[in-house]
Amino acid sequence: MADFIQASRRVIRASGRSPKRVYCGLAFRMIERAFAIAPYFLAWVWVSQIPLFGMSPAASGSWEAPLPCLLLLLCGQMVFSYLSQMNSFVGSYALTIPYRAQVIDHLQQLPLGRFGRERIGHLASVVTDDAKRVEDVFTHLTAELVAAASVPVLFALVLIWIDWRLSLALLAMLPVAFAVLNGANRFFLARGSRKQMLFLETSGLIVEFIAGLQTLRLFGRAQAWLTKLDGYFGQIRRDSMGVEAWGGGSVQAYRLVLEGGGLLLLAVAGDRLDQGALAPVTWLLFVLTAYKVFDPLMDAAAFLVELRAMVQGEARLQHILDEPVLTEGNRKEAPPGFDVAFHHVGFAYGAKRVLHDIDIVIPDRGVTAIVGPSGAGKSSLLQLIARFYDPQDGRITLGGIDLRAFSSDALYRQLGFVFQDVQLFDGSILDNVRIGREGAGDEEVFAACRAACCDTFIEKLPEGYATRIGENGQQLSGGERQRLSIARALLKDAPVLLLDEATASVDLQSQFEIQQALSRLMAGRTVVMIAHRLQTIRHADQIIVLDQGRVVERGKHEALLAGNGLYAGLWREQDVMSAPAEENAENTSI
Ligand code: ADP
Repeated sequence: MADFIQASRRVIRASGRSPKRVYCGLAFRMIERAFAIAPYFLAWVWVSQIPLFGMSPAASGSWEAPLPCLLLLLCGQMVFSYLSQMNSFVGSYALTIPYRAQVIDHLQQLPLGRFGRERIGHLASVVTDDAKRVEDVFTHLTAELVAAASVPVLFALVLIWIDWRLSLALLAMLPVAFAVLNGANRFFLARGSRKQMLFLETSGLIVEFIAGLQTLRLFGRAQAWLTKLDGYFGQIRRDSMGVEAWGGGSVQAYRLVLEGGGLLLLAVAGDRLDQGALAPVTWLLFVLTAYKVFDPLMDAAAFLVELRAMVQGEARLQHILDEPVLTEGNRKEAPPGFDVAFHHVGFAYGAKRVLHDIDIVIPDRGVTAIVGPSGAGKSSLLQLIARFYDPQDGRITLGGIDLRAFSSDALYRQLGFVFQDVQLFDGSILDNVRIGREGAGDEEVFAACRAACCDTFIEKLPEGYATRIGENGQQLSGGERQRLSIARALLKDAPVLLLDEATASVDLQSQFEIQQALSRLMAGRTVVMIAHRLQTIRHADQIIVLDQGRVVERGKHEALLAGNGLYAGLWREQDVMSAPAEENAENTSI
């Protein structure tokens, strides 16, 4: 319960709204319950006055006397029920809608690099399912829980006043029952959270499996994945069975102990009746209301399952909210120049340091190539310029201004991207290229596509530029996708270009066309490119060689070759391997 209260407090705090209305709703719900149980006591007072049932011999009440009272209670119950519903719903949504918005807003401000790290299925499930759990608890469950708890409390208060001995017998078993439930609850929390993690992992795997099915089947790995998924399903089944079996058992034990309270009451009441110390009507009142006290408590056990799920879901949402966001600068204007400088930059993914003391200048309107073995930190360096992450040490400037000083819009206006992993959307070719610059006219898009050597393949498509390219452009080849991404960047016409050149995986003709398109794109911009084929960067203004996160060499091609270091070694390796591609690439190299 303490966990639940803490979780609710965090939700309220994150929503930034006042919970007053929810509290009002809950208070009205209690009053409504008081109206609901009052008739029992009214009946008791009334019947007590009848000599046969009561202790007092004088019957002074008339049969009609309680009717107006009952009517009043009924009206009161209806009015407070309405008020409670209204306030609970409106108040809860007023909290949970901003809460959900806050989570989404926070996600939006997280470092872009974060999204590749976690399975999207997992994240989507947290944001939708867990947020729904929190919402349901606020809109429905809390009011039900308060109703369930207030009935026994209200009954108990009046019953104690009527006959404290019987009340003691009735309530004596409650602490034991709660202890049983609490023990079961702890057990569930541990088992349930393991099961939930398993669910999340499995849904992430399913998304990955569906997205990668084509590749998996091509490489004959689909069956292995299915076996892996089967393993996960089996584990979920075993865990669920365990949780249900234990859960069922412990709830039964809790109920049994509660019922024990009823038996104790019957024994004590019978004894006092025998001794003539108890009016029959009071005996009747206790026997009848015992179930009114226990029933809501039994229901409350079922609510606990949902509360637990909410507590766990809220913890996962809180985990997202606790992640530090990228600070948003407020500079809206373009910088005075477009050189990019790293000032003693150090960067780590968590505890893993991948860049050390990078201190380089990428000149304005020059071409800088980043080379190095796989895992050297090339992509990380490029991603830091795009603020996918912020470095832990040092700073990066654009035109002398710290990247963190720019608003993200202003920064991204200065940057064009052509990355290996081209993201396309299920729309027409025209729409996909126009993402480069919202509002660009059709003619401008056509021109960009021509310059990016896309027109030849677009014209062969059934509907030309209007052809829908399917989810993530699956109908297009790797080379075609690359060229569309170059057309986008051309249309955007940003002064700084970040390029992760990946022509190695496409055929020679495509390589040639991509090189041509890139040459056009790069002209007159500050270019930082990760080069996989060294042939293409022979004429770069500057080559920076990275190894294990450090700059080990820098200079022009000839000087680096003469230095006979890592670059010269890589060159010799590729010179032999890429000999057949040389002819074409040389014509278009930078
Ligand atoms: P390169 O582009 O030169 O191949 P990367 O910058 O991709 O190198 O990677 C540098 C190091 O950082 C590698 O050891 C890689 O495993 C690690 N790395 C890359 N991305 C992440 C990430 N998102 N989380 C943790 N480690 C990462």
